[in-house]
Amino acid sequence: MADYDHKMICPRCREEMNHHADKLVYSDALQAGPNGEYIEEFHACPHCGVGASRQA
Ligand SMILES: [Zn+2]
Repeated sequence: MADYDHKMICPRCREEMNHHADKLVYSDALQAGPNGEYIEEFHACPHCGVGASRQA
């Protein structure tokens, strides 16, 4: 369910963040896929350097 047009906004300075990595995560969490996996997206702000991640 990746939506590459929907950029993360920096919580500190409101700049659009750069998507710089995806990581496949295995978890027992309820929101995970049928094999217990989900994609974690990592984003970094080009303005202030803050990093953030979200589930894809
Ligand atoms: Zn920022």
